[in-house]
Amino acid sequence: MVASFQYNIGPARVIFGPGSLGQLADAITGQGCKRALILSTPHQSAEAEGIAAALGPLSAGLFTDATMHTPVDVTERAMATYRAVGADCVVSFGGGSTIGLGKAIAYRNDAPQIVVATTYAGSEVTPILGQTENGEKTTVRAASILPEVVIYDPELTVGLPVAMSVSSGINAMAHAVEGLYARDSNPISSMMAIEGLRALKQALPRILNEPQDLGARGGALYGAWLCGTVLGTVGMALHHKLCHTLGGSFDLPHSETHAIVLPHSAAYNGHAAADELKSAADLFGGSLGAGLYDFAASINAPTALRDLGMKEADLDRAADLATRNPYWNPRPIERQAIRALLQNAWEGARPQ
Ligand code: NAD
Repeated sequence: MVASFQYNIGPARVIFGPGSLGQLADAITGQGCKRALILSTPHQSAEAEGIAAALGPLSAGLFTDATMHTPVDVTERAMATYRAVGADCVVSFGGGSTIGLGKAIAYRNDAPQIVVATTYAGSEVTPILGQTENGEKTTVRAASILPEVVIYDPELTVGLPVAMSVSSGINAMAHAVEGLYARDSNPISSMMAIEGLRALKQALPRILNEPQDLGARGGALYGAWLCGTVLGTVGMALHHKLCHTLGGSFDLPHSETHAIVLPHSAAYNGHAAADELKSAADLFGGSLGAGLYDFAASINAPTALRDLGMKEADLDRAADLATRNPYWNPRPIERQAIRALLQNAWEGARPQ
């Protein structure tokens, strides 16, 4: 029987495939725009400069100071540049940090966003913006935040370091796992979640063996798109709450934290959401928590929070923070069980 559901999905124009960066100029003019501000992190500034040069007069200028967690003071500087160069849209070239900056600009002035996504985090297909001010991260959701066009060109991801590729890919898988048991899931989001998990499960080991393999890179980007779309479509639960707490209050790196916590959050919800997770569990050998852990270990993903520098003495506070104002979750949030989950994730124990 098909359960009752509502189906809402944001508008999406996705241009996918090797060489699709070549369609950037058309994507800009297709939005009725003539002067793009090109955004990147300092790390990707050389590529951003190359894009600006290739765009010629369609490029109004560059802002290459995008930073993790979208600090508001950086957004204000980027807004000043946007006005100073007379831009009428942004091109966000990079991962979640650069895409976050583009979203923060669009949230303030409704600028059309063309995203060239170069990691697997999935932010490019969500109407969600997390930004930080005075050390506090807040999240907003608005139609203006959803990028208008996304270009996925696997050729741009062959240089993504293998370790980052692996953790970023598992970050995407986390959106799919939580999407399966979301209260507002629907048959389409669940189909996308399973297909996204399948694509990433296949692609990530191939990237480990051959980082230049364009087929594998394309498979991972395809999976990331699907998993990101799930994140943008339905609500997230315990896993994302834990990762926001660990990233926000203990300064742990984003994708690595997701990679470590996912097997444990999946195991926590394994019984309560057994039906919803069945297809995913089948993909990973029957038990989703243990299967995801074995998969992560097999592709050299980090498996222990202590290896990210987290202190054991902070686990009590993390459990307190993670159980305060909890998101809806299929299994009730019990402080003691969450504390045990965090201990296991800290030690790198395999979930049972
Ligand atoms: P990132 O954007 O911070 O990138 C990490 C580093 O890798 C940067 O220096 C970047 O320039 C570099 N890089 C990116 N692509 C590269 C490539 N192809 N080759 C070489 N170097 C490359 O990392 P991320 O994990 O994509 O993004 C994390 C941020 O995104 C966090 O702030 C997170 O909160 C946010 N996020 C938001 C959403 C959302 O829906 N709002 C979803 C996922 C992540």
